[in-house]
Amino acid sequence: MSRYHDLLVSLRQAFPAPVSDPVHDGYVVFSLVKALDRVDALKSQAPILGTPREPDYAAAAEARLRHSGRSLEEVIPELVHCLDGLLIFGHPRSQVNVVAHPSIASIIGVVLPSIYNPNLCTDESGRGFSEAEVRVASMIAQLVGYDPRHSGGLFTFGGTGTLLYGVKIGLEKACPNTLQNGIDPSAVLIASEQSHYACLSIAGWLGMGQSKVLKVRTHEDNSMDVAALEQTMRDAIGQGKRIAAIIATMGTTDAFGVDDLAAIHEVRERLVRELALDYSPHIHADAVIGWAWSVFDDYDFAANPLGFRGRTVRALAAATNRIRHLSLADSFGADFHKTGFAPYISSLFLLKNRDELRLVARQKETMPYLYHSGQYHPGMFSLETSRGAGGVMAALANLLLLGKEGFQTLIGHAVEMEEILRELIISRPELSILNEENYGPVTLFRAYPTGVDTFRVKERERSDPAFVTQLRAHNDLNRRIYDRVHHEALTGQGVAIGFTESYRHSNYGEPIVALKSYVLSPYVDENRMQSIITHVLAAHHAVEAEMAGSAKKGKTTSTGWDSP
Ligand SMILES: *Cc1c(COP(=O)(O)O)cnc(C)c1O
Repeated sequence: MSRYHDLLVSLRQAFPAPVSDPVHDGYVVFSLVKALDRVDALKSQAPILGTPREPDYAAAAEARLRHSGRSLEEVIPELVHCLDGLLIFGHPRSQVNVVAHPSIASIIGVVLPSIYNPNLCTDESGRGFSEAEVRVASMIAQLVGYDPRHSGGLFTFGGTGTLLYGVKIGLEKACPNTLQNGIDPSAVLIASEQSHYACLSIAGWLGMGQSKVLKVRTHEDNSMDVAALEQTMRDAIGQGKRIAAIIATMGTTDAFGVDDLAAIHEVRERLVRELALDYSPHIHADAVIGWAWSVFDDYDFAANPLGFRGRTVRALAAATNRIRHLSLADSFGADFHKTGFAPYISSLFLLKNRDELRLVARQKETMPYLYHSGQYHPGMFSLETSRGAGGVMAALANLLLLGKEGFQTLIGHAVEMEEILRELIISRPELSILNEENYGPVTLFRAYPTGVDTFRVKERERSDPAFVTQLRAHNDLNRRIYDRVHHEALTGQGVAIGFTESYRHSNYGEPIVALKSYVLSPYVDENRMQSIITHVLAAHHAVEAEMAGSAKKGKTTSTGWDSP
């Protein structure tokens, strides 16, 4: 027998058997368990797998493809090594950012298509997985108040992808035939100053240019100033611009600011009529974070059947009052890998009127959706050609697993934990909440030097240019506190909180940094929230002592503490 043939026979063992072979299936499962067993050895009480380590890029750059392969048994430890030093985002002592802790069901949802490899490009290769995509799109449509008989959508490469789809369709409405003829230089995109930078990315990648993103100022609650939006639209239209899309951010990344979609929609409707526009500027809701609050649309806040605390009920109701208008958007994006407890990537783009997918379909004469003949070819309008089903299945898994009540419980719990933290923060004279008017799973806060009046300091920081030196010193103080708290957390003490380099800019353009607690893990409890305060205060104390010490020695205090 040839050498290749010998190799082939042994390599076959490295693949799941295509037909029933319980012994070999046992080997597949055993190999997975072996990998997970090795991961378990990396666990401790700390919110990190293994030990803190910096990625070794010098060594990585030396990597070369070897001539001979290795056994699965040898490969597994190499793969598991990639987890060494990773923060466990689902750990109750880890509250750094908007990262989901994936449920078991959603993990199975990702594993199944990764074994059988359906392609959602068309239902010929997607079959039941294509069906699953339509199921999820219908459930979410109904949840937010779209009519599932007319809406439609697809999973794509992240929240950024959902924005891209929304703006692309809006662009075709504002500037017909852009798909065919290329970009019209008059096209602009409107979003708030607190919108995600993905708006800039897609304007750049679509060929509109980042300079065509018109940023509308925001209120202190981080929501778009709708009067300013109206002015921006009037000015743009007056100058002959065409509005590809208005982005309403339903849950900003750091602060959970929620735009007033009903008011934005009202302005759009009024201006279309008044200015007799020949198109209706597309409203895309960037709801990648906020969509999940739709599960509270019909929650009886007065009766509060789940028994949340009073502050929590108030917070949930406040956010829901804005998010319940999601159906006014022409399209929106939902990230299950953020507030849907699913692994990356799981992002749904949903369009109120699926006929509009025709605007980006490759063959114009073909209906993008041909349900009646049992044909479903998203590949005719999707940017992607091959599209995996992992995101779809993770989302479906969680919708089935949790139901509305499960989502209410998990989201409600996250908000309840933040409300507890907020009560603790306001009882401390040296701490102050920054996103007080944003009622989500995230709290941004700052520590101030002992003796500073935290009632007045925030207003001065925001609006008094003469206060810039103090603002920078306060930024520095908070950076140093973060650094200490974070390092302690990695050794198993306290909580790994997050940090933002700019939760927003002052009126005179200076970034305001903030400490951040983002709760999504169902494992977080009250003690963890208390422990944040304990550790932040201890770090505050230590940093102030350090600063006093170095001030005596005449050193500057701001060196060597760059952002993490
Ligand atoms: C995270 C985020 C995005 C980008 O989504 P990805 O899934 O990371 O691509 C866009 N908008 C908002 C408001 C976000 O928080």
